[in-house]
Amino acid sequence: MDFFVWAIVGPNGTVLVDTGAGAETMTERGHDHLRSPLAALADVGLGAGDVTDIVTTHMHWDHAGNILDFPQARLHLQRAEMAHATGPSMCSGFLRRPYDLQQTIEWLRELHRGRVSFHEGDDEIAPGISIHHVGGHTPGLQVVRVSTARGNVVLASDAVHYYENLVAENPFPVLVSTIDYVAALNTVTRLADGPGHVIPGHDPLVLKRFPAARPGVDGAVALHLEPASVNS
Ligand SMILES: [Zn+2]
Repeated sequence: MDFFVWAIVGPNGTVLVDTGAGAETMTERGHDHLRSPLAALADVGLGAGDVTDIVTTHMHWDHAGNILDFPQARLHLQRAEMAHATGPSMCSGFLRRPYDLQQTIEWLRELHRGRVSFHEGDDEIAPGISIHHVGGHTPGLQVVRVSTARGNVVLASDAVHYYENLVAENPFPVLVSTIDYVAALNTVTRLADGPGHVIPGHDPLVLKRFPAARPGVDGAVALHLEPASVNS
C-alpha cells in the first residue's frame, strides 16, 4: 500500500490534496515513512509558502497529518467528516481506529484559529478544481476533480484504494456505508474523463503508470500527463 499527497499547481497558488502522516504515526501504524510532504514538495521545486489551500479528503490518520507544516494554507473539509471524527461515532473502536487523536486535536486547534472552511456537498476551491462529497468509506469523504491539459482527472482518495476496487466493483473493507461506497464508484467514474483519469488513493500502480514529475525524482509522478497504460 502506497500513501499519496497530491499538489495541484495553478496560476494562483498550489492546492494540496491530503497531507499524509508524520514519521512517528507511520511507524506506530506499521508503515515505512519515506518522506514528509514538505520534502516531497521540495523535490519538485515547491515550498510551504506556495500552498494556499489544502483539501483534506477525510480525517483518517494517513490523510490528515502534518497540517502545522503549512500554517498559511486554508483547510477544506466536509462538515460531516468533522462531526464523525469528533462525535458519537468515536465511541466505536472499529470506527475510531483509522483516526489519530493527536491529529484531531491539531485540527480542533486550527479550527479555533479560523483556518478551516467547511463544505457540505460539492464546491469549487479554485477555477478548475472542485470537491465532491461522496461518503461510503467515511461519512465525509470527498474526492477532487481537477481540469488538466488531458481532461478532468479525479483524485479519488479512499473512494478507490486500488484500481481493482473500481474495476471489479469490489469495496475496500474499511467503510461506513456499502450503498454510499458503490454510489461513490459511479460518481468518480462520471466525474472523470476516462478510466485513466481516476487516481486511486493507495495503489502502487499509480507510480508505475504515470511519468515522473521531474526527471530523476523518484516517487513523484505527473497526473496531468498521459499514463503509460491503464491495463498493465
Ligand atoms: Zn481512509
